[in-house]
Amino acid sequence: MAFTYPEALDLTRRPTPIEPLERLSQQLEGPALYVKRDDLTGMALSGNKVRKLNFLLAEAKKGGHNVVITCGGMQSNHARATAVAAAKLGLKCHLVLRNSVPGGIDGNLFLDRLVGAEAEFISQEAYAHVDGIMTRLAEDLRAQGHNPYIIPEGGSNPLGVVGYIQTAEEIAEQSRALGIRFDHIVVAVGSGGTQAGLLLGKHLFDLSGEIHGISVCDPVDHCADGIGRLCRQAAERFGLEFKIGKRDIRVLDYIGKGYGLSSQEEITTIKRVAQTEGIILDPAYTGKAMYGLIREIRQQRFKPGERVLFIHTGGIFGLFPKRNLFF
Ligand SMILES: *Cc1c(COP(=O)(O)O)cnc(C)c1O
Repeated sequence: MAFTYPEALDLTRRPTPIEPLERLSQQLEGPALYVKRDDLTGMALSGNKVRKLNFLLAEAKKGGHNVVITCGGMQSNHARATAVAAAKLGLKCHLVLRNSVPGGIDGNLFLDRLVGAEAEFISQEAYAHVDGIMTRLAEDLRAQGHNPYIIPEGGSNPLGVVGYIQTAEEIAEQSRALGIRFDHIVVAVGSGGTQAGLLLGKHLFDLSGEIHGISVCDPVDHCADGIGRLCRQAAERFGLEFKIGKRDIRVLDYIGKGYGLSSQEEITTIKRVAQTEGIILDPAYTGKAMYGLIREIRQQRFKPGERVLFIHTGGIFGLFPKRNLFF
């Protein structure tokens, strides 16, 4: 099927490689595991959010905006990627961050500061109304003569979702070139834009494999509803004539202790993958998603003889504020 992509910047290194996880697959005696290295979309500009920002910031530039506003947790990878991209494009950046877990200026927050983003911290309770807070901030900035552009949490709106429609096309091409048909694709779910884009792209580009989201923060029904809504909105905006059904949206719950909080099993999983494969997962998303994948393999959801592609969505900087949990 043809898809006309909206205008995009080129902030990412693409295509990112797909690599086999041979030793980990052997140890687990389950399916053949592969990893899509979206942690390699860049360095400070790395992870899944940069793919969404290619489209969002192209719109911001085109509209003549000079300030970008976005939000997230204190260690938000999305906020960091936005801050770095803004600096690269000569835009100002204003972040509204949820002050939930106390911690110093470390990890992603350190990089936010380093590239000169303004950060405002609000409580968990206030964050429930973060869209309104960003709207008011935009009004204030407009009154001062700026032209702000608001990006919602995680870059997850219909335009941001296109970053992962494009990734699905990339995976479909790589899958053909490698001669590998994946049976399952596994990805961490936060704001849901990544899974929504993969689901739409799967239909558009005939990508093989069931897509399984692993929720790291919200209950599965809440995630599935949000992903369904994003799929509908993106389908409408880009004139896609198919629908993603409820049964296509598979989400598993591996929230564990809560968003950004790590269990001992998750820490052990991160160490294990680092030591057997030289792949560095993050505590908030990919560590939980990999822990979930390993548990599901043990429960035979993913079976020997099958091929599973794990999307590594990045997040390395979130490890550093958690160093004390590791050794
Ligand atoms: C944001 C994020 C995700 C989740 O992506 P969504 O599109 O918000 O669901 C997964 N992994 C990492 C490392 C992230 O930063």
